[in-house]
Amino acid sequence: DKNDQSTVKAAVIGGGLIMVGALQACYLAKRGFQVDLYEGRQDIRTVEEAKGRSINLALSVRGRAALHHVGLEEEITAAGIPMRARRIHNRAGGLHNQPYDKDGQAIFSVSRRNLNEKLLTKAESFPNVKLHFQHRLVRADLDKGELQFTTSSGDTVTATHDITFGADGAYSAMRRELMRGNRINFSQEYIPHGYMELKIPPTEDGGFAMLPNFLHIWPRDEFMMIALPNQDHTFTGTLFVPFAIFEKVQERGEDGVIEFFTKNFPDAIPLIGEESLKNTFMSTKALPMVSVKCYPYHRKDKAVLMGDAAHAMVPFYGQGMNCGFEDCVVLDEILNKHNNNFKTALPEFSQVRSPDAQAMCDLALYNYVEMRHLVNSKLFMLNKKIDDFLYWLLPKSYMPLYNMVTFSRIRYSIVISKWKQQKKFVRFCLISALFALPMIAGTGYWQRSNLSGHRRFNF
Ligand code: FAD
Repeated sequence: DKNDQSTVKAAVIGGGLIMVGALQACYLAKRGFQVDLYEGRQDIRTVEEAKGRSINLALSVRGRAALHHVGLEEEITAAGIPMRARRIHNRAGGLHNQPYDKDGQAIFSVSRRNLNEKLLTKAESFPNVKLHFQHRLVRADLDKGELQFTTSSGDTVTATHDITFGADGAYSAMRRELMRGNRINFSQEYIPHGYMELKIPPTEDGGFAMLPNFLHIWPRDEFMMIALPNQDHTFTGTLFVPFAIFEKVQERGEDGVIEFFTKNFPDAIPLIGEESLKNTFMSTKALPMVSVKCYPYHRKDKAVLMGDAAHAMVPFYGQGMNCGFEDCVVLDEILNKHNNNFKTALPEFSQVRSPDAQAMCDLALYNYVEMRHLVNSKLFMLNKKIDDFLYWLLPKSYMPLYNMVTFSRIRYSIVISKWKQQKKFVRFCLISALFALPMIAGTGYWQRSNLSGHRRFNF
């Protein structure tokens, strides 16, 4: 019976260290399904130091909307630190701010660990959710709903489910199983840059070493560093540099590290501390970043991919998690529309969500150029001023790209087409103004209107 959710056995793969799976488990539990969440790693709540990707993340409107549905938005944002502007550090140590939004809207720097712990505890609070840690999916017969896991003791466990949600990240085993024998388009792209995290400790009196309500950026054209604030008054700096440069610097040893920083990020050396900088750089490997696109996301009414498993993206727009969380909202809305009928709902999810996520993957690649290079340019700053002015003048029909991505839930694919239209509109206005000004000057209208005291807005 399609309408009796309590008989539907759903499996969610992935939900330990990170989170789209844990959130999806909550969404399914709210629909009344019997949910089993399988995670390859240990329960993060029982592990002292969690290994993995970035320590903090930027949470914005899409992610917040998804958390709101399970009652976690306030708790998570209250524990986060609002960032209202980019704070640009130039090579000479000069600083300037670029606000994200004219009305002061903020993105939130949240702790990955806290977010994941809260999501797992939330999922566990539903009587119809069971969590299985150290269960790594190795094989699946998706049509039969048979999932095979290995556990920490090396045993093999098999479970059968009516439907499986694959949220097991960029290197997804579920995606591999889904692609077996199915016509799935798939592409992945590694960028030539890697990333490394560098900790900026609090000052001696325990305060923040830089202003906290900013996303700090050191744009250096070919590469960059960013830093996000943490609750404990530290910052997590992330250096994004081509692997070839990482290798060169590391080959030259500790002197090479200090030389590289003195040349490119001199003001960051006292913030990180010379010793810590040398130690981290010499003992850590830079990590890769990959962009993944695929279509469709589903197999019949049996399986569907979500989060990074469906659409990994480079981290430069701070949207990977936000987009993954939004998947849960979009799928939920589609399931409502189809009255929980997976046979019709899953194809619609693939059709709606894949072009949007692919658009976001492209925007994330674009934003890397904006962050490391364009923010340095005068033309970019002028464009931003025009953007902000038009947004102020026409708030209902004009919105800067960053605001559409970060502070709205406009579909990502529509964001790109609106952005292109807006760029054309700005170009048209600028060209018209260039032609109109000499003509107005030639008619003497400008002088006449000056005489009559109507200096502004007469043309
Ligand atoms: P993952 O986070 O990869 O989680 C997958 C889970 O599945 C893991 O717990 C893993 O152990 C488990 N798993 C894997 N294989 C198996 C298996 N075979 N069986 C069982 N379990 C399995 N996003 C933002 O929105 N804002 C940011 O500011 C931001 N900053 C970032 C900075 C960096 C440096 C990076 C690399 C990413 C950043 N992201 C950011 C992106 C964000 O981290 C990801 O988009 C998000 O973690 C995706 O979540 P996920 O649950 O889909 O996948």
